[in-house]
Amino acid sequence: MSEIDYQRILTSIHRRLGSEGATEEDVRSGDVAAYIPELACVNPDQFGMSLQCLDGSVHSVGDADVPFSVQSIAKVPALLLALTIDPDEVWERMDVEPSGNAFNSLFQLEYEQGVPRNPLINAGALVLCDVLISALKRPLEELYAFVHALSGDMSVSWNERVARSERASSHRNAALVNLMKSFGNIHNEPDEVLDLYVRLCAMEMTCTQLACTFGLLANEGRTLHDGKALAPGVMVQRVNAVMQTCGFYDEAGEFAFRVGLPGKSGVGGGIVAIHPRYYSVAVWSPRLNERGNSFLGMRALELLTAEIGHTIF
Ligand code: GLU
Repeated sequence: MSEIDYQRILTSIHRRLGSEGATEEDVRSGDVAAYIPELACVNPDQFGMSLQCLDGSVHSVGDADVPFSVQSIAKVPALLLALTIDPDEVWERMDVEPSGNAFNSLFQLEYEQGVPRNPLINAGALVLCDVLISALKRPLEELYAFVHALSGDMSVSWNERVARSERASSHRNAALVNLMKSFGNIHNEPDEVLDLYVRLCAMEMTCTQLACTFGLLANEGRTLHDGKALAPGVMVQRVNAVMQTCGFYDEAGEFAFRVGLPGKSGVGGGIVAIHPRYYSVAVWSPRLNERGNSFLGMRALELLTAEIGHTIF
């Protein structure tokens, strides 16, 4: 696929979907997430996309360098860090099955005795935060240091306003963490777990930073920016498998069907996807479909793999 003109493909997707001058698509479909009040403040008509190849070439369009709230996408770096610390503990405390339910479902968690279906729904990420708190002296700082190593960018941080906004309206996540505590699957104080969780989800990145951060998942565990091996190959394969089956709430089947790559979305309107051995791509458009995935982000990635003519299948 080396002869592919990625910049031309991204430019044509942007022309089609970017709000200015878009012709063929309904670019105003969907609404921004409002259940975290601060997320409702973004301009909904932004659109950015960035694709990075393993040779280091970067192709970007639109608002690719505007920072946004990555939300659930940040669960993947948290998973990688927790797996680096203690893979056995992680897989003892959660499953790897698609949930087929909303990302913050309570009834499934009760039915399954406090064991999250997978690490990419809220319950799973809350357990990941609990693992990090138990294992690390300064969990928040060490988590962000790990993200700096993945991205090669020391400026990546969280937005405290977004974190506080989510914390103040975290009643459902508080219910999840307390329910798991009652089953013995949370070892630290629920408040401490929630504090870390909202600062994980409030991570801000641009599409360009995000594509680079996820590059190691396309590159057998080596970062794109300095080639350092930060994850063993088998861990990368497993994380990609979990993203493929569980990365899109209860729309993972639709994403596999339409796009055909492992990836992860967040309610900030970002989606990151990777094609092992070829590229990592991030797209951002804040309007969400009814399942909580970026409406245009899904469409953009569908157009990308259709135009390239390759998926992992
Ligand atoms: N912080 C969000 C929540 O817990 C993350 C949701 C998401 O992006 O899927 O509701």
